[in-house]
Amino acid sequence: MTDTALPTIQHWINGAYSTAAPTRTSPVFNPALGTATGNVALADDAEINAAIAAAKAAFPGWSNTSIAKRQNIIFKFRELLNERKFELAKIITSEHGKVVSDAAGEIQRGLEVVELATGFPHIMKGDFTENASTGVDVFSIKQALGVVGIISPFNFPAMVPMWFFPIAIAVGNTVVLKPSEKDPSAALWLAELWKEAGLPDGVFNVLHGDKQAVDGLLNHNDVAAISFVGSTPIAQYIYETASKNGKRVQALGGAKNHMLVLPDADLDLVADQAINAGYGSAGERCMAISVVLAIEPVADQLIEKVTERIAKLRIGDGTPTDTHKEPDMGPIVSEVHRDKIASYIQIAKDDGADVLVDGRDITAEGADGGFWLGPTLIDNLPTTSRAYTEEIFGPVLGIVRVKSFEEGVELINTGQFGNGTAIFTNDGGAARRFQNEIQVGMIGINVPIPVPVAYYSFGGWKDSAFGDSKAYGLQGFHFYTREKAVTSRWLDPAKHGGINLGFPEND
Ligand code: NAD
Repeated sequence: MTDTALPTIQHWINGAYSTAAPTRTSPVFNPALGTATGNVALADDAEINAAIAAAKAAFPGWSNTSIAKRQNIIFKFRELLNERKFELAKIITSEHGKVVSDAAGEIQRGLEVVELATGFPHIMKGDFTENASTGVDVFSIKQALGVVGIISPFNFPAMVPMWFFPIAIAVGNTVVLKPSEKDPSAALWLAELWKEAGLPDGVFNVLHGDKQAVDGLLNHNDVAAISFVGSTPIAQYIYETASKNGKRVQALGGAKNHMLVLPDADLDLVADQAINAGYGSAGERCMAISVVLAIEPVADQLIEKVTERIAKLRIGDGTPTDTHKEPDMGPIVSEVHRDKIASYIQIAKDDGADVLVDGRDITAEGADGGFWLGPTLIDNLPTTSRAYTEEIFGPVLGIVRVKSFEEGVELINTGQFGNGTAIFTNDGGAARRFQNEIQVGMIGINVPIPVPVAYYSFGGWKDSAFGDSKAYGLQGFHFYTREKAVTSRWLDPAKHGGINLGFPEND
């Protein structure tokens, strides 16, 4: 039931909050407290059409705004965001649950893409060829697509939208962002910041909602392209529907990332990194490590080191206060998701795995009512178990003991997903072979969460991404622009060509 005493979290359309009362809403929770803090509007057709119409109306003006002016606005946005990122981090923590320093970390990684986008004039330069044929010059122009839709997941409410919108806007598109209904406020804070930076109304719009809003974007003729990040089944649906409707689409999906540990690896480094990559952000990262493939005989020693470290982790409300120091790990985003993660721990147990540390038994610091689930360590996880084959998206680390490098590579390569993976070793030859043979889009060598820097591109292989363009980097610029080739002849008044109906040949 909707608690009408709570604030309504409205759409941001054409540079202002919507004022009409929404017909449908969904509660937004503070996951550390387990209580609702607001009701987010869920768009109906009128609001979907209004957001797209605002973006469409803003497009001619924005795409023809000079490069110098557009660049200044992006620099200003970068400056403001850098100054005020902790305001945003606290908003993220209050709706997502991750600890504030981790929220600040995601903003920092988003800022890197904003910084990349400031360099767009260089990347937008076309080519020019003089005298391709006698008296004929050929050149290319890169132009924006129009209105682009960005649909983002709950786990990075600032960074994932920032993988896309800085570049989309810089090169002249206008945007309708549909953030996750679980943590919608970060997108609105960013929208207000754009306005303060001088972005014209209608260039950046935030449309809240569920499947109806998403389908509205996918089916609208005025939306030219869709960038999506979320779970694999929805990514596939987005890819198929948007493609069928003739839109350019990139759809990034789920993951099941493995860490392959060779016997020569530094096991203290591995244990530290397994903890960081497995339990950071409560495992709700698409690049989190969820399986450690330990090549024997290292598993027992590694488990001992990981278990010691788990015992020292502090779990609690991610917002620090005068009396409460920031913990290492916050709550799970929602009760439903917490229960789903817990069900996978049971599945692993029922399938014969050894649950060495069971996060279902956790007592969090401070708040009792939150959506808590602690770090979980599972040994001897059968590779036939759904707890191994499916994405859990929580603080659950499974250990699979393997006999050889080849067996480890085979397991990774036969999995459904191909987002990220890491190898830990001191053997350069093995690492080099791994990077060559592994069927995964992003690889870490002694690096557990290999999210590429902004000037490379982000994206997985197999069922972790649909479409052929990755996010940000040069592929991001490519995705949000299309090229025109112009063949031009300014006639020398003394030389007229005369009539020739044959296909034009160069001379
Ligand atoms: P989700 O797929 O449930 O939701 C993503 C977006 O799709 C949200 O905006 C949501 O409102 C919308 N949506 C949900 N159900 C829909 C439906 N039936 N039809 C149309 N739209 C729908 O994902 P989530 O739970 O918000 O995020 C977690 C997932 O995202 C995980 O699977 C994670 O691996 C993935 N993820 C992937 C990457 C990556 O780069 N590959 C990055 C972050 C998260």
